[in-house]
Amino acid sequence: AKAQGRGRWAVYDPERSARDIARSALVAGLPVALDRGEFVLHYQPIVSLLDGRMLAVEALVRWQHPQLGLIGPDRFIGLAEETGLIVRLGEWVLRQACRDAQRWHTEFPDARLVVSVNLAARQADAPAIVDTVVDTLASSGLPAELLQLELTESAVMGSAEEPLRTLYRLAALGVRLAIDDFGTGYSNLAYLRRLPITSLKLAAPFVEGIRGDEPDIADHRDERIVDALVRLAHALGLWVTAEGVETEVQAERLRALRCDTAQGRLFGPPEPADAIKTRLNGG
Ligand code: C2E
Ligand code: CA
Ligand code: CA
Repeated sequence: AKAQGRGRWAVYDPERSARDIARSALVAGLPVALDRGEFVLHYQPIVSLLDGRMLAVEALVRWQHPQLGLIGPDRFIGLAEETGLIVRLGEWVLRQACRDAQRWHTEFPDARLVVSVNLAARQADAPAIVDTVVDTLASSGLPAELLQLELTESAVMGSAEEPLRTLYRLAALGVRLAIDDFGTGYSNLAYLRRLPITSLKLAAPFVEGIRGDEPDIADHRDERIVDALVRLAHALGLWVTAEGVETEVQAERLRALRCDTAQGRLFGPPEPADAIKTRLNGG
């Protein structure tokens, strides 16, 4: 109240300031956390809708913070992108995921389990990503076809030649390329013709709209959109994965719509690497 005369307290917003402090603490902490090995990967099953078999797992990063506990990626991936740390963090994720996947592959070769790794736009854009992937496959020993890279629409949409060439070089290695959160970006379909991709991941909101109980018009529309996107993907020779599948009704409807694979709480949450091994063991 004293400072009001100077006009400061009028604009002071304690909530905002607390947010800013928390934010800068996270920003400052990120590189330290990387050096200290505080990041961990959890893996979420991607299963066949035909027979329920686990065909792949998506690597999802978490920060095991010494004071704050387990922090989800939504709280730090954006910050890492802004500060550029995402390149180093992304490399760590790729290496760790390939190491884990090669271990599963050695122990369960018949499973042919694919590991799917998220690439931030900044990583996918940089030509250096090709060397990083070549290097990581070589040092982990993981066959290229057991690695999938997930790219966002915005990362691949640009008409720029350079990123396109990078994608073709990645595809030539034999790794799989998926478009993540398909249908939520610019929805310019022209780019689909030119990209060397192998699958589309349908964003969770479309799946969420499939409810089965007293279907109202919105539910109906989401189902029709999924139907159309699956047909589009198949016409282009692409696999389709539905994300955020939480109920049996959704799984049944997606199966009826010929969606190939699914991921979501119904089939298992993201879990530590050991839990995936237990699943591969049939446990
Ligand atoms: P995403 O790639 O779309 O990942 C799927 C997210 O959906 C994950 O959140 C997952 O836990 C969550 N999910 C799982 N099952 C369900 C379900 O049944 N229903 C719903 N509604 N959601 C479900 P998570 O782990 O918090 O990751 C959030 C986002 O952070 C990811 O979204 C991805 O964009 C980003 N991210 C995570 N790890 C990495 C990484 O290593 N690199 C980069 N660049 N981004 C990452
Ligand atoms: Ca993803
Ligand atoms: Ca996604």
